[in-house]
Amino acid sequence: MRLVIDFQGSKNKSNNVLTASNPDWKYTIATGILVVAMVVPQLSDWVESQQFVKYLQTRVGSLPKTTGASISRIAFPTVANAPVTSGFGWRQHPITGERKFHTGIDFAASLGAPIYATDAGIVEFAGEKGGYGNTVIVKHTSVSTLYGHASKLYVTTGQRVARGQMIAAVGSTGMSTGPHLHFEVRVNDKPQNPRPYLQHTAANSYSPRMRAFLATIRWAETGTSGSLSYRKLVFNGTFNDFSTHPRIKQCAPINGKRVCSTAAGAYQMLDKSWYDLQPKLNLTNFSPASQDKMAVEYIRRNQAIADVEAGNLDAALQKLARVWASMPYNNYNQNAKTLEQWRTYYQQQLAYRG
Ligand SMILES: [Zn+2]
Repeated sequence: MRLVIDFQGSKNKSNNVLTASNPDWKYTIATGILVVAMVVPQLSDWVESQQFVKYLQTRVGSLPKTTGASISRIAFPTVANAPVTSGFGWRQHPITGERKFHTGIDFAASLGAPIYATDAGIVEFAGEKGGYGNTVIVKHTSVSTLYGHASKLYVTTGQRVARGQMIAAVGSTGMSTGPHLHFEVRVNDKPQNPRPYLQHTAANSYSPRMRAFLATIRWAETGTSGSLSYRKLVFNGTFNDFSTHPRIKQCAPINGKRVCSTAAGAYQMLDKSWYDLQPKLNLTNFSPASQDKMAVEYIRRNQAIADVEAGNLDAALQKLARVWASMPYNNYNQNAKTLEQWRTYYQQQLAYRG
């Protein structure tokens, strides 16, 4: 973040460095369907209506398919733009016409599309399972996940799988009208609504490029991209309490003047960023996960998500230069790294994560 300094006694009012919210609609729609809308029960009927699915298919078609690129990172069970065609709950069964409880979520995907394990675990079942057709069940902790109607199975019972590992291919085996993934989340073998589970995993599954970019911001802002970066204070030292920052000022003598700033954490967020984003992102504290979400929100607001996901570092830095002083393309004179330094570190991070 840009260092906004309060001189003791007189407040030095600085411009708000954040641009007004100007959402990138493609991004909003694509993630909205998969994450936000699915966890709002009032919206589910609308989301799962065929009309909306068709609309989405036309809107998300041009999105970069970033998930699916790398094993072990993916927490979504199939291709990123697969629309939900049937939700969890009572419905008219598409084949029998009976009113029946649907114990999972159906994602429409083409025949042969990858099915990913949403989390690490052990394959409890891999084979044919009645109406489910070819099915994989992965046991995580008390939670297990089920993937039904597959055309091919790539795992066998007892096998250990990684988060995001491709375990099967989408098909239409069992009681099915066309290729789709039937995805279930079971807690102690009882099917649960997968929505909150997907929200949780989706929130923690940034693409390798996004994670490399975030790491580079952390390094540029604090000198390190490791876990320590999330506890850095603006002038020196670290903090331990994620419940109070970035609402506490740190003061230090700079050029003979005592100056104070609230900037804290891996992305040097200010108190005003916290007051703005905490209610919008529903953050409970300033934990590393919250800090990441805040950073991604600024990337989104400045319409740089697509640039990050496309690996276009230069374009992303130009759009975000007003947000983070450590980026080139601003004139804050607060020790910005050069474009060359950004490139080098980013490429290292990408090689490490990709
Ligand atoms: Zn189903």
